[in-house]
Amino acid sequence: MFYKSTRGKVKGIKFKEAVMMGLAEDGGLLIPEEIPYFSSSDLIRLSALNYKELAFEIISKFTDDIDGDTLKGIIEKSYSTFESDEIIPVVKKGDIYIAEIFHGPTYAFKDIALQFLGNLFEYILNESGEYLNIIGATSGDTGSAAIYGVRGKKNINIFILHPKGKVSPVQELQMTTVSDKNVFNLAVDGTFDDCQSIVKEIFADVDFKKRHSLGAVNSINWARILAQIVYYFYCYFRAAKGDEVNVVVPTGNFGNIFAGYFAKKMGLPINKLVLATNENNILTRFINEGDYSIKDVRQTYSPSMDIQIASNFERYLYYLYGKPETVVQKMDELKQYKRIKFTEEEIKKVQAEFASYSTTNEETLEIIRDFYEKYDYILDPHTACGVNAVYKLNLKGVNICLSTAHPAKFYDAIYKAIGKYPEEPENIRKIKNLPKRVFEIDNNTEKVKEFIKSKLI
Ligand SMILES: *Cc1c(COP(=O)(O)O)cnc(C)c1O
Repeated sequence: MFYKSTRGKVKGIKFKEAVMMGLAEDGGLLIPEEIPYFSSSDLIRLSALNYKELAFEIISKFTDDIDGDTLKGIIEKSYSTFESDEIIPVVKKGDIYIAEIFHGPTYAFKDIALQFLGNLFEYILNESGEYLNIIGATSGDTGSAAIYGVRGKKNINIFILHPKGKVSPVQELQMTTVSDKNVFNLAVDGTFDDCQSIVKEIFADVDFKKRHSLGAVNSINWARILAQIVYYFYCYFRAAKGDEVNVVVPTGNFGNIFAGYFAKKMGLPINKLVLATNENNILTRFINEGDYSIKDVRQTYSPSMDIQIASNFERYLYYLYGKPETVVQKMDELKQYKRIKFTEEEIKKVQAEFASYSTTNEETLEIIRDFYEKYDYILDPHTACGVNAVYKLNLKGVNICLSTAHPAKFYDAIYKAIGKYPEEPENIRKIKNLPKRVFEIDNNTEKVKEFIKSKLI
């Protein structure tokens, strides 16, 4: 299997190379040159597998430069850190299937991809004898999941910048109580945007980047999408009994939902993929009205979806247009006018596969309250946007809603909704009294560079 760029200038890349490359050198995102297809008899065979076996069957179609036993080992290691033997329990509440994809070490679904990516990095670096210094900015979930993905790994350092005092208390604890020597938490005296622009400026210094072998873990890495394709198959097999199936996905970056779109292209008979957004509704406006225009970011109870620039959207554009030249042209249009225009015909094509609903902050709390009263089950605020979309759209068939985080991560919103706190899982309780390892730093790119230089491998 080879990989190519959505912008057409890069192709013939092997999987391991694609993992280390992240962004393609022409500025595009990497996608496989072919799409593996599972027939209905294949699907029957796959439906009997457990999560790790299924992960191997799906992932191995994309990774022919890694031998089978090695890949099995990587998958085994990546998902043995999950607290549930099932990896992803699927529970039924009323008519809705809730797929709890949050049972990894940091209680958000990003663990599914980042545990896998961390082990892949370790294997590839060990083989090549190279090293990697990962740098990233976080507003919460990505940073902690990335840290847990690479903590204690040889040949890898990770530097994560977060805005000091501006991430949720649980997220802050999860990051700063990791004591491994290769993990560096930088608490920046500034906002999340400041952290992001520091990281951007560091990556823009090509000389610094090459000299110190800098890498990223953001959601554009193909290996992250790949790991996420697996659970679409897994929960489909657990919920579908010959009915039409819709999968509802709380969405920000178009990363998670893109994995679902790819699963569908690989033969999984999903009817509608539903994008559930919060008040940052650019993707809902796109699906329902063809209006893809960037507005200001609003703060909501579901902060991991407070996004206006959906970094994985470009991958979808490639399949919508089928031509790299059009992708380049549309990405230029976005840069210049802060919007992309779509024809009616294009929107029809989009609506044949997707539906969408945007949930307000008020509705988020109402749904958490209603659901708790009806089913004695606490939804996290991101998942609440998903469940609300199920009710509001009322699509025919079985609805599976992906539950992207444990409610204990966002306990303030839960308290507002139901007047009590969700039960804390043991792995959150355990870290509360651990010593912290965090480095405070000025909002200044040169200072951050100095710090990184002083800690390099
Ligand atoms: C990251 C995140 C999302 C959004 O996922 P995308 O892949 O960016 O669409 C939703 N919910 C939670 C809890 C998250 O951490």
